[in-house]
Amino acid sequence: MEHLITRFAPSPTGRLHIGHAFSALFAYRKAMESDGTFILRIEDIDLGRCRDEFIDGFYEDLSWLGITWAQPVRKQSDHFETYAAYLDKLNDMGVLYPCFCTRKDIAAEIEGIGSAPHHIPTGPEGHHYPGTCRHLSTQERQDKINSGAPYALRLDLDKALAIAGTDLTWTDQDKGKQIATPAILGDVVLARKDVKASYHLCVTIDDHLQDISLVTRGSDLFYATHLHRLLQALLDLNVPEYCHHPLLLDEHGKRFAKRNNAVTLQHMREQDGLSAAQVIAQIDSYEKSEHPVQ
Ligand code: GLU
Repeated sequence: MEHLITRFAPSPTGRLHIGHAFSALFAYRKAMESDGTFILRIEDIDLGRCRDEFIDGFYEDLSWLGITWAQPVRKQSDHFETYAAYLDKLNDMGVLYPCFCTRKDIAAEIEGIGSAPHHIPTGPEGHHYPGTCRHLSTQERQDKINSGAPYALRLDLDKALAIAGTDLTWTDQDKGKQIATPAILGDVVLARKDVKASYHLCVTIDDHLQDISLVTRGSDLFYATHLHRLLQALLDLNVPEYCHHPLLLDEHGKRFAKRNNAVTLQHMREQDGLSAAQVIAQIDSYEKSEHPVQ
């Protein structure tokens, strides 16, 4: 049987809360049940928001929960050159284009300011990109780049699908075989303006490079797997199995999240005096919600 490797991949933008603990335990238990390996990966490409002190906090909180992970821990910010090499590969395939739009430009385009409103489809990450920069000529692109205008790199979805085909599938452990529908996201950003990388790009590459055989993550990211499958096909990456776990809900039926001021594990330990066993018992007794599948 294949050696099972799972991972927990938090971003160090704050301390872990109980929703994270559930997600980490979920991946950890899957690995331990099969004598597999559990990996902790630090997703810290957002250099403005990520802080090393939160990474130390992850180590402290996960150890307290009794979770152990393989060494060394991969930090995405150490690997920008790797992501750039994969971007070059996509660029050589002709499936990327520079996008100079600001959020304001995109909103104005969608609202049709100065012209008729455009009917831009909406997907799980909001409105699709209206395609403004996809239509620039090579010369226009070069002129803008030469002028020093900052730009992101977007995936030209139609070109990507023309290469990868539209019959890609992936397997969700609970829901079975899925037909990949990356078109639900439109032309996503694969390299941001501030750092030449993005969540979608890095997570797909790292899951490949770290030989992750079962990707576990919240069902709020079910939609993202459709795009990741397309990136795997374009970049010739491994296709792991997926398992999208339900989200933990608080007593008001709201998911635990930093924006909902979810109490951190540190607070539960140091202020509320809870033991790890009590926190784990809470996690196991909480209600869990199914997120609509896309
Ligand atoms: N860094 C991502 C998050 O914290 C990981 C998501 C994933 O597991 O793919 O949401």
